[in-house]
Order: sequence, then structure tokens, then C-alpha cells
Amino acid sequence: MIPDSEFGYELLVCRYAELAWHPDGDARPAIVSRQLGTQRRRWDTVVIEVDPEAFALRRAFGDRSLDSDLLHVVRSAPEAWEWYRDALPDPGYPWRYVRQAVHRVAGRDLIEKRRRGNRIEIRRVRPYPDWVERVVAIENKPDLDRSAADALADQLAHDVETALADEVWLATEATGDRVEPALLRSMPVEAGVLTTGFAEADTGPGGFAVDAAAATVDWLPSDLAPSGPAGRDPETATRRLEIAERAYGKGWRSYRDTMRPDCRHFELRRAGRALVPRCAAKGRCPTARECSGSCPEFSPEPPAWRTNGWPIEGGPGKGLRALLERRRERVRDRIGPDPDGS
Ligand code: SF4
Repeated sequence: MIPDSEFGYELLVCRYAELAWHPDGDARPAIVSRQLGTQRRRWDTVVIEVDPEAFALRRAFGDRSLDSDLLHVVRSAPEAWEWYRDALPDPGYPWRYVRQAVHRVAGRDLIEKRRRGNRIEIRRVRPYPDWVERVVAIENKPDLDRSAADALADQLAHDVETALADEVWLATEATGDRVEPALLRSMPVEAGVLTTGFAEADTGPGGFAVDAAAATVDWLPSDLAPSGPAGRDPETATRRLEIAERAYGKGWRSYRDTMRPDCRHFELRRAGRALVPRCAAKGRCPTARECSGSCPEFSPEPPAWRTNGWPIEGGPGKGLRALLERRRERVRDRIGPDPDGS
């Protein structure tokens, strides 16, 4: 048996990655996010391997992502006061947009700015660290059949070719016997294959569970990083950093902001060492899309839940959101597997 939606499966893979990265057994500090990429290509699960010391310095820039405009300013802000147009690289678009970004960055106290006549000068508060070690993309397909394998093979071949990620994987659930070897053979040889056994883990009523041993490596991926001292071109390096920044700000529990934990049917169900959303009305994990205000069965939690003795201020919906937020914070604090929580 596999989780009852690809969305549910994706959350389990994210949690597995958070607990057990890297699957080859060589532990590497990493943050995990989902549904990120470029305009052309969106990955299901994204793992950002980080340098722990540089990551601690990145945290000093706050919990929110830095978008491309803000990165442009923060990365090049000078040590001593300087006119921003002298200090920053030519953006390739009008400077007035850079000026807006300067105000936004200064508004978040990430740089200092002052006015000299009609010029705006800036200086950095601290250097922006080189915190991203590797970017890893995972495509999740719990139920791998021939047509899914063909589509995935094309997508993974594209990922291998662009080498935007350092490593790409396919994650699939072992259903009954083994995954059909012929289907795995149709994948590009550079892509890794991770076979999950969430259904075989110590399952509760949800029927599937996650722990650090819930997946096996069927095929190790190749390192896609370009060899040679030149490395990646600056444009690709910047795109990778933008993805890493979005992963940092978003995490993988961001469904708390898009789904409806404030619906009376919304629950968080424990699945081993993961918490997965469950809809009591549908009797399963809802998809992110269907669990919205337009869901025909949406029923707001009664006001009484928010006031009458509910232990978390604001009622269960707010409490669940806060719980998921705390999980993300805890992972950032520890950078690595959490030994006793979910
Ligand atoms: S009834 Fe609809 S809105 Fe409520 S938890 Fe279920 S899927 Fe989400």
C-alpha cells in the first residue's frame, strides 16, 4: 500500500530526507523544501546541503528568503560607505529597481544606508556567506508504471543535461514485490533511484510511516557538478542560490499556509516520525489543491473552539500552523536529524 496521494507521498519523502540525508549513509547537514525550481522545471523535493558554519551566518540575515533583487544588493554591499551604483554590479536592468531593492534590504536591517546629497550610500552589516554546498532534486513517483516512467525519464534527462542540481533522484515506493527493474533501467544512468518502504515501516492506522531506515538506494546518482576550476557559469550559480534561498524561507511544511488547518475536518496524523495532514471528512490525506476555502466540505472551526479552554491561543487551526512552524525552526536550529521528534 502506498500513501493515498502523491502529495502525501511527497511529504513523507521530505521528512525522510530531513531525517536521513544522505541516503548513502554519509550524514550531511541539509534543509529540505518542495515544489521549487525554475520557470521551466519544478522539482518535487529539493534538498540543500549546507556548510553548517556558513549556514549559521546565513541565519543572521533572518528567517525570510532573499529574492534575486535583494541578493544582488546583499551579496555585493561594500564594507565601507559607497554610492550604491559604484558598489553594486551593473544589474542589466534599470538602476531604479536596484534603488527599490536597496530600500527593501535596508528596511529589513540587512544593510545600512544613508543619503549624501541626492546620492544613496550603502554599506554592509555583515558579509553574505557562501552557505550552499550542493543542490539535490528528487522526483517522487510512488506508483511507477510505464507511462510515468517515460515522462520521468525525459524530465530527469533534462535535469542531468542542465546540471542545475548536483544530483538528481527518483523516489518510488516498493509496492508488493520490487519495482519493475525494466522501468528503473529506462531512467538516465546519472539519476539515483531511491526505493521507499513507507508501507513496510511500523505502520499505524494511516498505513504508512517514515523513519530514517524507510528507504534503500537502488542506484547511486552521478555527481553532475561541472569538473574543472571554472565550475558553473555565474548565471547558473545565481539561479541555484535563488532556489536555495527559497528553500530556506519556505521549508517543506509550507502547506500550513496554503491548506486549511482552520477547517474542523483538518487533522495532523502521525505516520511514524512524520506528521501528515488528514481530512476527517474525506478519510484520507487531501491534496494541497482540494484543501482550500473552495472545498465543498470546508467547515470553519467553531468560534467556541478558539475561546473555550483550547490550550493553544487562537484555536486548533492556528495551533497546527504554529506547530508546523516550530518544526521548521527546530530543524534550522539543529541542522540535522532530530533524534526524538517529528
Ligand atoms: S473538508 Fe476540505 S477544507 Fe476541510 S480539511 Fe477536508 S479537504 Fe481540507
